[in-house]
Amino acid sequence: MAAFMRRLGVASKAGGRSAASLASLVSTQAAAGAARPAILAPQQGISWSFAELEQRAAVAAGALAARGVARGSTVVTDLPNSADNLLLQVACSRLGAAVATAKDEAALNELQKVTDLRLAVTHPGSEASNPALAQYSLKESPHVVEAWGGSSVEVRDAAAAMPREKVSVVWFKATDLRTHDHEPLSLAHAAGLPVLHLYVLDPRWFKSTPLAGFPRTGPRRALFQLEALADLSKRLEAAGHKLCVRRAVSTARAFEELCDDFEVAACYACREVCPEELRLEQKVQEVLKAKRAGELQLCWTYELHHYDDLPAEVRRKGASGFSGYRRCFSERVQVRDPLPRVDLAKSSPVHWTRAEGLPSSVTDLGLAAPAPEPDDRAEVSWVGGETAALTRLEEYFFESNDIALQFVGATNFPHDGHSSTVAKSQSKLSPWLAHGCLSARYLYAELKRYERERRQTDCTARMVHELYFRDFVRFSALLKGSKIFKLEGIYGRHPPGGWLQEDELLAPWCHGRTGFPFLDASMRELEATGSCCHAGREVAAWFLVCDLGIDWRLGAEWFESTLIDYEPASNWFNWAFTCVPRATGGNSIQEEAKPLRPPRTRLQTLEAIYWAAQQDPDGEYIKLWVPELRGLTGDLAREPWKATSQEPEEAPRVGSAPEEWPPALAKERERIGWARRTFPAGGSQVAVWWGCVREGAAASAAPSGTIERRLDPDDGREYTLEGLKEKYRGQYKLEEVRVYWKNTCEPLEAKTDPADGKAYTLAELHVRYRQQYTRQEIAEYFKSSCAPVKEKKGGSASVPRKKPATGWPEGYPLPLLPPASFFSIEEIAEHSRRGQARKAAKAARLEKELGGGSRVAGYAAPRSEPGKEKEPKPKQGPRRWAKAAPRDS
Ligand SMILES: Cc1cc2nc3c(=O)[nH]c(=O)nc-3n(C[C@H](O)[C@H](O)[C@H](O)COP(=O)(O)OP(=O)(O)OC[C@H]3O[C@@H](n4cnc5c(N)ncnc54)[C@H](O)[C@@H]3O)c2cc1C
Repeated sequence: MAAFMRRLGVASKAGGRSAASLASLVSTQAAAGAARPAILAPQQGISWSFAELEQRAAVAAGALAARGVARGSTVVTDLPNSADNLLLQVACSRLGAAVATAKDEAALNELQKVTDLRLAVTHPGSEASNPALAQYSLKESPHVVEAWGGSSVEVRDAAAAMPREKVSVVWFKATDLRTHDHEPLSLAHAAGLPVLHLYVLDPRWFKSTPLAGFPRTGPRRALFQLEALADLSKRLEAAGHKLCVRRAVSTARAFEELCDDFEVAACYACREVCPEELRLEQKVQEVLKAKRAGELQLCWTYELHHYDDLPAEVRRKGASGFSGYRRCFSERVQVRDPLPRVDLAKSSPVHWTRAEGLPSSVTDLGLAAPAPEPDDRAEVSWVGGETAALTRLEEYFFESNDIALQFVGATNFPHDGHSSTVAKSQSKLSPWLAHGCLSARYLYAELKRYERERRQTDCTARMVHELYFRDFVRFSALLKGSKIFKLEGIYGRHPPGGWLQEDELLAPWCHGRTGFPFLDASMRELEATGSCCHAGREVAAWFLVCDLGIDWRLGAEWFESTLIDYEPASNWFNWAFTCVPRATGGNSIQEEAKPLRPPRTRLQTLEAIYWAAQQDPDGEYIKLWVPELRGLTGDLAREPWKATSQEPEEAPRVGSAPEEWPPALAKERERIGWARRTFPAGGSQVAVWWGCVREGAAASAAPSGTIERRLDPDDGREYTLEGLKEKYRGQYKLEEVRVYWKNTCEPLEAKTDPADGKAYTLAELHVRYRQQYTRQEIAEYFKSSCAPVKEKKGGSASVPRKKPATGWPEGYPLPLLPPASFFSIEEIAEHSRRGQARKAAKAARLEKELGGGSRVAGYAAPRSEPGKEKEPKPKQGPRRWAKAAPRDS
């Protein structure tokens, strides 16, 4: 050995130590002189050059790797100090594995206590002198003898020799991290075998998103997951069990190892609904089959309703939209009771030598940054785990009565004074529900108990509605398959102008710097805390697809990365079902508010101003998250363009339908319908601040230069060629549409009408003169009498640019596109204030009746007088939901 090391040049270094691996030293020597002698053992007849040693080591390493030796493995040997031993050392060094020498039984027993020894490399018959080696057996009978170096060696396999313990396995995923109402856990513990609880931190979930390259699991959610796993592990340990965590291996590999080490009688897990998760389940099933292990049994643990209880036709085809599912759930399916708690202590625990501890930080999962500290503006700062989930549930329901007094519900239409930006109005249970720390059936059972023991209110009924929506999302995602991840979405459509691929406007959107306060507040809250209310998510998503025209998947990837309550079906289905169709069509509710102009023309997402007025009339929520606006009165904080020198102009009306008169304020549903139709169309009730726009943003990114739009005389609307093909699909051949586009449809040129000196496209001129002249006359007038203006229609400059506005709040970014609003928007805000005050009074009455200690927070916010704006209410410090669960069924 000493001579060999000298030849390697190691001994000449200080202290005879080298940082380089043995294998790399051999390679270096082989490269320097392939024929130079490496190992000389005349009594064995060996004289190997470095080249030969390297080649033999490669073959030996291949043989070891085929038996599962890899980086971090340890191979035991009792080979003497010989050429065979040296070859083994070099081969293991190539693989990054260690070699441990155990000359006798005692040494081997000691080694086994500290190291997981997978393979033994010995000379044939050596178990006679080292009986402990008898537990390592040859893989095949009668002998597998490797032609090694000077002599023959046996490669013996520990796993094949040792009797494997028969176990049931519970495979936990990121969506079922709890011990209550957990069918896989119940089944595994009822099987009468020792139970192994497995969690795989598969690197696939910590990679980057495919399009934008965001971390798939951002640091905040990664921390929540680790906390949830720590809590689960603690609960299992309290019953004498262990959570066996595997890190940095794929799920399939972890199952291969599991089957090598145990006789897996059956594996129980929660059933998933999205394609990637289903493929993973399939892979695990294949591994179990290949290893002749028991089956993977999947259970519906996530949803409120059991899939098997749905009517067959709903399982096969779904129901018609949410309303169809709601009817089905309320009329035809009974919610099952949560399962009784399992007595975990009854089953024997299993020790798996390969199990690792949980990472101490999210950076150990490959994330570049650690999880940020909780933001003290957050109403709730979430701590992962069942314990914190049950605590929050108990507090929100029984301790405070907030569920009956304050709850609004994520998807509730914002009317009757409901606002989801007000403290206590949201349960904020979604991160725990998404990670399965709280079972939906347990939540439902607690809700029913609350209603029995305390009071049923319209608020408690709304929670049922939300849980129904959650199931609608999961069951629909299962049926839609990969469509919810595709650019064309579930309706197979694109916007008429196609998607804009350039994404320089994505960053301001992600970080809440668009210049639209309600949207920015939501996105800043999302980034700072991992969550924002449902309305904020919708507004941000509509703005991305309709006003920026950006590939919606980039936005969905940002949500995937940042949401602490991310769950694939919930995120991607909400985007594909609720948000994308507004720009592409396919969903009649959304189509009502579809943009009528190309993206980046002017604000067309109505809710950015309408919901701001309804949900946050005094701008308190906005000011909390957008400090640049704190010095403004509530109305100006919602719409800072009103604080500038700019005078708004009436938005040119698009479309041929006459303008509608707004319904009475009290008729809120009709009013929103009117607003949805009117806001994108423009007209006398819609105001635009053309000069309040960030320099270069909308103009440079405007799509008019890249995607040509023309006017179809058939309906007087603007189309791209692709949009036109879509319109006439099934009626005309593609070639016919192309010719029609080229010869008949007018390019969208803006021209100055000599009658008033303003710029109009032909479409706009049609609207202007449709009462007086025929289409043909208008077209002729446009052609002959109107003079061309420089800028093309379709960009931000559809109306000539105004002088830049002054008086914009310092530090807050100017809008990415010209803002718009209703001239009468303050009526909405005032109506909402009154509604909120009524709701607060009702809650106070109810609270008295209930006699509980609930704090009726938020709804009574008095109307602030302009110029005497209060500072936003000081929020209580962030609440970390980490108390011990008071009621743990
Ligand atoms: C674009 C977009 C992406 C979204 N992504 C997610 C996501 O990844 N994970 C997620 O849990 N929710 C998602 N939502 C839905 C919704 O915004 C959140 O569930 C809600 O804000 C959570 O607040 P809460 O717990 O106070 O809800 P509550 O009003 O208390 O509702 C109770 C529970 O019902 C479920 N729920 C309610 N509405 C929905 C819905 N529309 N879709 C699915 N579940 C719902 C949630 O589990 C929620 O915790 C998304 C919505 C949009 C518009």
